[in-house]
Amino acid sequence: MKKCLFIDRDGTLILETDDFKIEKFDKLIFYPEVFYWLGKIVRELDYELVMVTNQDGLGTTDFPEKDFDEVQQFIIQTFEYEKIHFAEVLIDKSYPHQNLPTRKPGTGMLTKYFGADYDLPNSFVIGDRITDVLLAKNLGCKCFWLNDGRNLGATEIGNNNRETLQAYIATETRHWQKIYEHLKQL
Ligand SMILES: [Mg+2]
Repeated sequence: MKKCLFIDRDGTLILETDDFKIEKFDKLIFYPEVFYWLGKIVRELDYELVMVTNQDGLGTTDFPEKDFDEVQQFIIQTFEYEKIHFAEVLIDKSYPHQNLPTRKPGTGMLTKYFGADYDLPNSFVIGDRITDVLLAKNLGCKCFWLNDGRNLGATEIGNNNRETLQAYIATETRHWQKIYEHLKQL
């Protein structure tokens, strides 16, 4: 059975922006030390990497697919050059009010990982929003929460309050190093 890291993109692999969309290269900054520590995770540990990201309104005139794709391709290629390979890249393009099952914290894009080939209890979500913690709950695993203090996603967790989600937080941190250290000692 394979263990996975379900990794968010914005705020996790790259820094989140104030307008929550990264469609231009001058808005692109990689998360500090992500290549070093995620690279060590990949080289020293045995996890399959899956990128899972909500991109609200992608494909609309406000957020054209072509602009997103150029930046996304650059991100993927840069990680590939660092030997960090994502087995799958899953992008939901809907808005929160549409309540689609494919949108995180929904698991609609991740149904295959509930199958017998995957070890979900020993897998992790890594993300910067409390909705990423809720995704971990919905998958039956735990989350490394890269909480930047902005409380992102708080309006989307419904009846799940911070206390009920505490059990699904492996570590709350701002540093990829802490994620590596936690995984390394398992
Ligand atoms: Mg994020």
